[in-house]
Amino acid sequence: VTSAAVIVGASVGGVHTARALRADGYGGEVVLVGAENALPYDKPPLSKELLAGRATAEGICLLTAEQAAEADIRLALGTAAVRLDTAERRVELADGSMLPYSDLVIATGARPRPSPWGEPAGVHILRTLEDSVDLGEDLRRGGPLVVVGAGFIGAEVAATARGLGVEDVTIVDPIPVPLGKALDVECATALAELHSRHGVATRFGVGVSGIDPVGDRLAVRLTDGSELTAATVVVGIGVVPNVEWLADSGLRLDNGVVCDEYSRSVTDPHVHAVGDVARWLHPRYQQLTRVEHWTNAVDQADCVAHNIVHPDQLRAHDAVPYAWTDQYDWKVQLVGRTGADYEQIRIDNPGAADSFTTLYAGSGGEFVGAVVANWPRALITCRRTLKNPGSVGGIDEARRLVEGVRTAPKTNAGAAR
Ligand SMILES: Cc1cc2nc3c(=O)[nH]c(=O)nc-3n(C[C@H](O)[C@H](O)[C@H](O)COP(=O)(O)OP(=O)(O)OC[C@H]3O[C@@H](n4cnc5c(N)ncnc54)[C@H](O)[C@@H]3O)c2cc1C
Repeated sequence: VTSAAVIVGASVGGVHTARALRADGYGGEVVLVGAENALPYDKPPLSKELLAGRATAEGICLLTAEQAAEADIRLALGTAAVRLDTAERRVELADGSMLPYSDLVIATGARPRPSPWGEPAGVHILRTLEDSVDLGEDLRRGGPLVVVGAGFIGAEVAATARGLGVEDVTIVDPIPVPLGKALDVECATALAELHSRHGVATRFGVGVSGIDPVGDRLAVRLTDGSELTAATVVVGIGVVPNVEWLADSGLRLDNGVVCDEYSRSVTDPHVHAVGDVARWLHPRYQQLTRVEHWTNAVDQADCVAHNIVHPDQLRAHDAVPYAWTDQYDWKVQLVGRTGADYEQIRIDNPGAADSFTTLYAGSGGEFVGAVVANWPRALITCRRTLKNPGSVGGIDEARRLVEGVRTAPKTNAGAAR
């Protein structure tokens, strides 16, 4: 093969890489390999609009067969990649076929950490379209619902379930406040209160010791000896990167595919990684970083496509991390480095209820990140400022910038992804 880009993993990162390669003028063959039979689809709606019945499977499709044909992207769906031979530069698929490549893009993402308490009927995890459809069917039969794990996905499922009219929703998490790593205590408490206001019970600071079927119900046993009864349980306790198929490839794997700042495998410059599976040297932080958010998969795909098309003008993947979550009528956006480890300042939006920004500072007082609740214009200011580290002296200056943002009405519509 003179030139062929094989992309393994046909979701957010993989589809975007394929499209970006064509947009950058890549002239070789582009093959997109996906384990699932379904056409590529977007993930964030699986816990939100699709689960709520406000979006359809067609509506969240990322690439139709026609669009693929138009962009000259060959789809190889329904066949997982099972092995990589970097010496011969080829990928083996589950059906035994071999795909030679000149550049390989690993975009196999991550999968939910399995339930340590088994998965009897009624216990769900959420990652795929099928997972979301199955969960939606159970939720429509009513509660009680127990959500194990107060991370983004668990909290979104609880909110969507309430929107569907499910009574008796409880979130359980051994940490004392939800999203304790990504948010500081004050922000996390505000989110916990949002759930309480919507009638969701929370059991924080207590773990699950077992989940057992009892008749047509599930008994969720907690570590403090108490027990919750559920019709449906959702286990959202984090994800693990899909790297098992690379076990004997010789690539360096350590909580993902270890990459340099250009998102190329540190072991093989013709192998690139994007999205949830990539752990690259983030130039801004000089740290191996793996990000499990949508925008990073897209930004990293752009970077990798550029580097494949322009190998002599390599571009580092230096994006400022960004993520959002939608719960009830709230949109919470995170940019840069956030969480309880940093000094923080909270700024309330004087013009709107439930609208605030928390700024985070590093040890030298430098502005490193922000959590923005229901304040789209403050988000734009923070994001722009963080993109240009030299543009603001420190957190006090960032505070003045945010305070200077004129009050904008609270809205989810058109808010930046
Ligand atoms: C329910 C849900 C809600 C989310 N909400 C948000 C949100 O609100 N905001 C946000 O920022 N992020 C959100 N995310 C995270 C975001 O969707 C992910 O960061 C993003 O999907 C990562 O894209 P990816 O392409 O790297 O990996 P994935 O989306 O995991 O896709 C990987 C693909 O590779 C395929 N695959 C795996 N192994 C193989 C193999 N061996 N061969 C072939 N194919 C393989 C998988 O089937 C899958 O289709 C959410 C995720 C989920 C699951």
